Amino acid sequence: MERKGLLVVVSGFAGSGKGTLMKGLINKYDNYALSVSATTRNPRPGEEDGREYFFKTTEEFERMISDDAFVEYARYVNNYYGTPKEYVFEQLDNGKDVILEIEIQGALQVKEKFPETLLLFVTPPDAETLKNRLVGRGTEDAKTIGLRLARAASESEGIEKYDYILVNDELDECIESMHNIIQNEKYRTFRNIPFINRIREELKGFAKGE
Ligand code: 5GP
Repeated sequence: MERKGLLVVVSGFAGSGKGTLMKGLINKYDNYALSVSATTRNPRPGEEDGREYFFKTTEEFERMISDDAFVEYARYVNNYYGTPKEYVFEQLDNGKDVILEIEIQGALQVKEKFPETLLLFVTPPDAETLKNRLVGRGTEDAKTIGLRLARAASESEGIEKYDYILVNDELDECIESMHNIIQNEKYRTFRNIPFINRIREELKGFAKGE
């Protein structure tokens, strides 16, 4: 895949504050595009179709799967979640750094399909903070919170598969760190092979006395 923007996957436990972090990043810098996922879960109060998610029925979602409309999709706590292809590729071609805020199974699918993807994992400073945020949000019942905490414990086993871990303690600092990580990543040699090949050829030309 030869594209202008960087594909970035951000995962983190439910309640890690990654949603707020993403909003902060997008508001502060204009080189990012945040992908909007499709899901079969019900909208939470205040969520709008097409803004937080494209809300789909299971039948609609399964049709999109068979139409090969997703970059990746996964099941998470009894619902489907998936990244529609179209927007992602369009924005990468426009030179935007595209951020997918998705859970770990999807993250690993993306990395396998597109190995140049940058994987970031966001965590709160400790587990207590996570639980307090989930309870404080007041949008899930006790059973769902329990399921999400259990899911967080199993997700924590996969953190080393990510390239970087970000501790979301102080929001502004975390936004800056995320921006710096993503932008510095662009200087990695393996992301600059066309440039390297070009200057190599030019130098060979000089060496031959051209
Ligand atoms: P929530 O229901 O709290 O909005 O999201 C639950 C989990 O699903 C979060 O970890 C979120 O990052 C993840 N998620 C959201 N969209 C997608 C997606 O398109 N694909 C995958 N694999 N996970 C997603």
